[in-house]
Amino acid sequence: MSKKREMSTAIIWYTNDLRVKDHSGLAEATKLHDRVIAYYCFDQADYAQTAWGFRKTGDFRAQFIAEALVELAHALAELGIELCYHQGDTAQGLAELVAHNKAVRVYTQHHWMPEEKARIANCQKACSVEWVFHHNSLLIEPDQLGFELEDLPWIFTEFRKKVERNLRIKSTQQPRKISDIIPEIHPIPDLRSWGIKSVTQPAHSAFPFKGGCIAARARLHQYTFETQKVAWYKHTRNGMLGVDYSTKFSPYIALGCISPKTIYRTIKEFEAQHIKNEDTYWVIFELLWREFFAYTAMKYGSLFFNATGIAQHPSPEVPQSIKNRTGNPWISPKPIDTKGSWGQWINGQTRVDFVNAHMIELAETGWMSNRGRQNVASYLVHELGIDWRWGAAYFESLLIDYDPCSNYGNWMYVAGVGNDPRARVFNMERQAQQYDPKGLHQKTWLQTSLF
Ligand SMILES: Cc1cc2nc3c(=O)[nH]c(=O)nc-3n(C[C@H](O)[C@H](O)[C@H](O)COP(=O)(O)OP(=O)(O)OC[C@H]3O[C@@H](n4cnc5c(N)ncnc54)[C@H](O)[C@@H]3O)c2cc1C
Repeated sequence: MSKKREMSTAIIWYTNDLRVKDHSGLAEATKLHDRVIAYYCFDQADYAQTAWGFRKTGDFRAQFIAEALVELAHALAELGIELCYHQGDTAQGLAELVAHNKAVRVYTQHHWMPEEKARIANCQKACSVEWVFHHNSLLIEPDQLGFELEDLPWIFTEFRKKVERNLRIKSTQQPRKISDIIPEIHPIPDLRSWGIKSVTQPAHSAFPFKGGCIAARARLHQYTFETQKVAWYKHTRNGMLGVDYSTKFSPYIALGCISPKTIYRTIKEFEAQHIKNEDTYWVIFELLWREFFAYTAMKYGSLFFNATGIAQHPSPEVPQSIKNRTGNPWISPKPIDTKGSWGQWINGQTRVDFVNAHMIELAETGWMSNRGRQNVASYLVHELGIDWRWGAAYFESLLIDYDPCSNYGNWMYVAGVGNDPRARVFNMERQAQQYDPKGLHQKTWLQTSLF
C-alpha cells in the first residue's frame, strides 16, 4: 500500500463482510481516497422463492442482516462514511452510485462460489472502474497457506497439519477517519413486500443474540475473558441447550460482523493471559474446518452443488473408495409434497423425536447445534433417502449462519460425497441417548412446537 492518497471517490461494496475493523478493503480505500461511500444491496435474487419451495433467505437471517447493517452504518458514520442501500439488482444500484459520484474504484471482497462470482461479473460489466479485491472472510489468506490450491489436501487432518506447521495470520491496518462530518444514516429498506416478517427469538433459544459488529465483539469477549467458557469448549461443544455450550460465533463470521482473524488473536490473548489448554485450541481447530471447506470450495467450485458432490472429480487425490460411491439413488420430492417424508422432516413430524426437536428448533430460531445438524442431515439422506441438496437448500433458507462453503461442504460430507473417507450414518437412538440422555432438548422443543 505504498500509493499516495488521491482526490477521488471510492465505493466500498459490502457483501458478507459487515464490519469496519480488520477489514483490509476499507483500510486501503480510506488511505487512498479522500472520499469513500459504502454500498450494500438487498438483491432480490437472495430473497426469491426457490425451486425447492421456500425463500432463499428466511426471516431470521434477514433480521440478523438488518441488525448488522444498522451497527455497520453507525460505525462507518463515525469514520465519515455514508452507507447507501439499494433494493433490487446489485449491479444496477452499484452502476448508479458509481456514475452519480464519479467513483474511480470499487473495493470489494473475493468470492468463489458460482452465484457470487456471477454477481461480481455482472457488476464489473456494469461499472467501468478499477476493481480492487481483498480477502476479508478467511483466517489464512491464500498467499499465507504455504502451498498452492492445486495441492490442497483431500482430507481435513492433512490440511490442518499442513497449515498448522507454519500458521501465519496476516495483520490488517485499521481504517482512517475520512471526515468529521457525520453522514446521514439511512433506514433499512422495508422487505415486507418480499414476504420478510420481523421475528422474535423464543425465551429458550440457544441463539438469542442480535446481529452486528458490536454484538459480535461483545459475544467474543463474553465467551473468552468474561465467562472463560472457552476453557471448557471441547467438553461442552456437543451440547444442544443454552447459549454457552459452543461459541455461537458462526452467524457473526458468516456475515462478516467479525473476522476469524480477530477471533484467533483474541483466543491467543486469552491463552497468554489466562489458560491455554486443549479446549482453547479446539476453537481454532474448528475454525480450521471452516477454512478447509472454504478452500475446498475454492478448488472445486460448482461441484459443491452436484448430487455426486466432489466425489466424482477426476483428480488423482480423490480416494478410489470415494469415487466408487456414485451417491445414492436419491429421491427428489415435489416441493409441495409436505405430507410425505420430506414434509415430515421439515415440520419435525418424523418417527424420531430427536430429529423432530431439532427441526422445530431450526424453524423457530434459525439455529441448530452442530450435533443436531449432523443428525438431521444423516437422517434425511441415509434414512429417508432424500437428495442431500434439498436438505442443504432448506438449511440455506433458514440458518442465520448460512455460508455456502460450510453448508454445502458439511452436507456433502454427511451424504458421503464430500471429503470424508467414511460414510456418516448416525444411529439416531444411540445419538439421542448419548447427547440428550434426559430428553431435555426434545422436551424443550417438542412441547413448544408451533406446528
Ligand atoms: C449439515 C451441516 C450444515 C452446516 N451449515 C453451516 C453453515 O451454513 N454455516 C456455518 O457457519 N456452519 C455450518 N455448519 C457447521 C457447524 O455446525 C456450525 O459452524 C456450528 O454449529 C456453529 O456454531 P458455533 O459458532 O457455536 O460453533 P463452534 O462449535 O463454537 O465452532 C467455532 C467456529 O468454528 C467453525 N466451525 C465449527 N464447526 C464447523 C464445521 N463442521 N464446518 C465449518 N465450520 C465449523 C464455525 O465458524 C464456528 O463458529 C454445518 C454443519 C452441518 C453438519
